[in-house]
Amino acid sequence: MALLVHGGHVLNSSYTALERADILIEADRISAVGQALALAPDTHRLDATGCLVLPGLVNAHTHAHNNLFKGLGDNWTLEDLLNYGPALNGNRTPEDHYLSAAIGAVEMLKNGCTAAYDLFMAAPAPTLEGIEAVVRAYTDVGLRAVIAPAMADLVFYQTVPGLLDLLPSDLRRPVDGLVAAPTAGVLQIAQETVRRWQGTASGRISVAVAPTIPGQCSDAFFSGCVRLARDYGVGLHTHLAESKVQAIASQHRWGKTLVGHLTDLGALDSRFVGAHGVWLTDDDIRQLADAGAAVAHNPASNLKLGCGIAPVREMVEQGLTVGLGTDGAMSSDNLNLFEAMRFPHEPARWLGAQTAWELATRGSARVLGMADALGAIAPGYKADLVFLRADSVFLRPLNHPLNALVYAETGADVDTVLVDGRIVLEHGTVLTVDESHLRAQAQAAADRLRTQNQAAWTLAEQLAPYLATACRAAVATPYPVQRYAAS
Ligand SMILES: [Zn+2]
Repeated sequence: MALLVHGGHVLNSSYTALERADILIEADRISAVGQALALAPDTHRLDATGCLVLPGLVNAHTHAHNNLFKGLGDNWTLEDLLNYGPALNGNRTPEDHYLSAAIGAVEMLKNGCTAAYDLFMAAPAPTLEGIEAVVRAYTDVGLRAVIAPAMADLVFYQTVPGLLDLLPSDLRRPVDGLVAAPTAGVLQIAQETVRRWQGTASGRISVAVAPTIPGQCSDAFFSGCVRLARDYGVGLHTHLAESKVQAIASQHRWGKTLVGHLTDLGALDSRFVGAHGVWLTDDDIRQLADAGAAVAHNPASNLKLGCGIAPVREMVEQGLTVGLGTDGAMSSDNLNLFEAMRFPHEPARWLGAQTAWELATRGSARVLGMADALGAIAPGYKADLVFLRADSVFLRPLNHPLNALVYAETGADVDTVLVDGRIVLEHGTVLTVDESHLRAQAQAAADRLRTQNQAAWTLAEQLAPYLATACRAAVATPYPVQRYAAS
């Protein structure tokens, strides 16, 4: 059955103006764009009069598990966030994982995002039941997703230089008692995830491998992930040089940058996605570009966690594939790509609205491995479309459409969203799941988990000053690049 989206306006190919264009959809793809299109007699019609029709935005990096606790952390560094990991992620049932993923997927839809690369995490490690719940949540909401269960086989506290030596014995004991997930076990879950869920939900769900942070992985585990991604032809996504502490820890452990270490492991190729990349050196950026690798740039998260300002201009200039991400809901704290689009700059080295827009559309599509299917309104592309009400306080007066979309729009004008040619949000209402029920259940889960994880929270509070001392010492270490980070 064909569907004609008619009466709307689209950005022209040079992004300089809007033009009236109808969009013909056959099954899950766009088959024609223009005016006076030839239609089959049984073509359905969807009125987009008064709307700007955009390609669905693509989120290059987020975390389903964070959504239950958005807005909980204040003035946290990345290491603080990781310190509270057990308190945030402990005691979750598969139903909790479902609710956390689903409410995030709804938030993204309502902000005009139709696809996400999701590094879902669980404590102490993802289970098949938890992963199934996340897959089901994205499937139910109707968002396209690359789901990459994020895994580690080292305990975070062992990876911060000097931390363990600072801890008094009453704190050292519980930390020493934390047991990392077994290497072979997590690799097996990663492999089983690919086998079970790759290409499910009519192809809307795909799977990738995510050794979460190189510093929290044994070389054997990271190498195993590299092999798995290669054997199954799926993506490999890790947090790459996100904070200065991570960059310094890499020098301590391997005597080289993280990119140098990952080169040794054979990890860098066109499947590789490094998230953040704040502390990449010029040489790191060149190596990533030469390998055909990609970076998921998360500027709002980098600012909120004080990680610094990523060298995104250099990345783009070196020809690196760069997509735009929101990161998780505990580090940005919303999943709004319109907001993220306003941040991808470096001081005095502007990126410009067109590049920012392209990062959130075509760039992220490449990061997800879907360059030919997402990020544009053109024949052959997936029918993932967003209608924005043009007559709004954010977009009127309309002087320069592209600049208005990047700098003035907030996502509040999102009216209707299609994924795979199917209407999943209509006039602001989610059609696929019961949003108010979902909100109530997610609130109940968050309330219950905050209580249940109180002891872990208290331990994290006690560890926090020692962690801060160890991180301050790491951050004081000279490094070849300066990224305007918090100290
Ligand atoms: Zn992340």
